[in-house]
Amino acid sequence: MQPFSYSSPADPRVAMAEAAVPGAEVLAGGTDMMQLMKEGQRSPRHVVDINGLPYRGIAVTAEGIRIGALTRLSEAAEDQALRQGWPVVVEALEASASPQVRNLATMGGNLLQRTRCLYFRDWATPCNKRQPGSGCPALDGQNRNNAVFGGSDRCIATHASDLAVALVALDTLVLTEGPNGPRRLPLADLHRLPGDSPQVETVLQPGELITALVIPASAAARRSRYLKLRDRASFEWALVSAAAGIDLDTGGNIREARLAVGGVGTKPWRLPRIEQALIGARLSPEALRPVAELAGEGARPRNGNAFKVELMKRAIVRALLAAGEVT
Ligand SMILES: Cc1cc2nc3c(=O)[nH]c(=O)nc-3n(C[C@H](O)[C@H](O)[C@H](O)COP(=O)(O)OP(=O)(O)OC[C@H]3O[C@@H](n4cnc5c(N)ncnc54)[C@H](O)[C@@H]3O)c2cc1C
Ligand code: SF4
Repeated sequence: MQPFSYSSPADPRVAMAEAAVPGAEVLAGGTDMMQLMKEGQRSPRHVVDINGLPYRGIAVTAEGIRIGALTRLSEAAEDQALRQGWPVVVEALEASASPQVRNLATMGGNLLQRTRCLYFRDWATPCNKRQPGSGCPALDGQNRNNAVFGGSDRCIATHASDLAVALVALDTLVLTEGPNGPRRLPLADLHRLPGDSPQVETVLQPGELITALVIPASAAARRSRYLKLRDRASFEWALVSAAAGIDLDTGGNIREARLAVGGVGTKPWRLPRIEQALIGARLSPEALRPVAELAGEGARPRNGNAFKVELMKRAIVRALLAAGEVT
């Protein structure tokens, strides 16, 4: 690890100013940052530890539920209001990492974790995201874990967060504060597609910090589930996941649907066309499968990840059926 200087300001303005200096990086739970620093993929000259900032805690508000960016994943998963009103979020958290990691990892940091693409984590191989212009060996190499949606000829890395999939389905807002003042961004707009510059992953400006998340309340948020499919039952990122929320009419048909998928997109991948097509559908495998078929449109699988398209369709049907069982 390269030597670096360290500060832990208690004043958000100081933290933002320090974080805006080229070569500075922000540290929250450190579960991703420290790994990347130890392995040499990130070498900040200065580390701004933001754990002293007042960005921790959970409150139900008129807008929904507000969760501070420094709230630990384990704290959020244990929150009774979140468990009742937004179960898909709790299930996504409980399916993430391990209890030890969740005790350290923060809600803000989770959304900004870097990809698990094998080549990005292996500093001995080229990778456009780690070293712009060096190439993308995943395109024709080991791409089993890579994306089928949103990729470019420069990068097909998936966004690894489970939480982000659940949050994007529920129209979550990301509250930020930076040298240019506060912003309220839809989570759907936080992450960029890789295009020609996969190294630029979000729309955050230098020094801009995530302060909180606001998840609106709704009937579909209350009746929601997260399904994660992976190579082993725990401590593993998703091959494919689905976050589904539904509201039902008095006849038991879908009145409103929220749907997003993980493990398949270069950013958390919402499926608005499927949400529309689900309106009026019966909650049965026979009725849901033809609608789930539409989710494959626009997919661009590579040699090693074509299986994800069918797996995603099955995950969508199962997640919707599971949401229907929430009382
Ligand atoms: C073994 C292991 C297994 C894992 N499995 C999963 C899994 O199954 N699913 C899953 O979703 N995740 C998984 N993770 C990832 C883990 O959830 C993330 O590493 C963690 O959530 C990141 O949060 P953090 O607070 O530790 O972030 P840090 O490591 O401190 O920071 C991550 C990034 O976010 C930036 N950052 C952090 N907070 C802010 C803020 N408030 N404002 C601006 N920038 C900020 C940092 O500068 C850095 O770039 C796993 C991690 C490990 C180590
Ligand atoms: S997919 Fe992206 S992260 Fe993976 S090797 Fe290619 S450029 Fe790097």
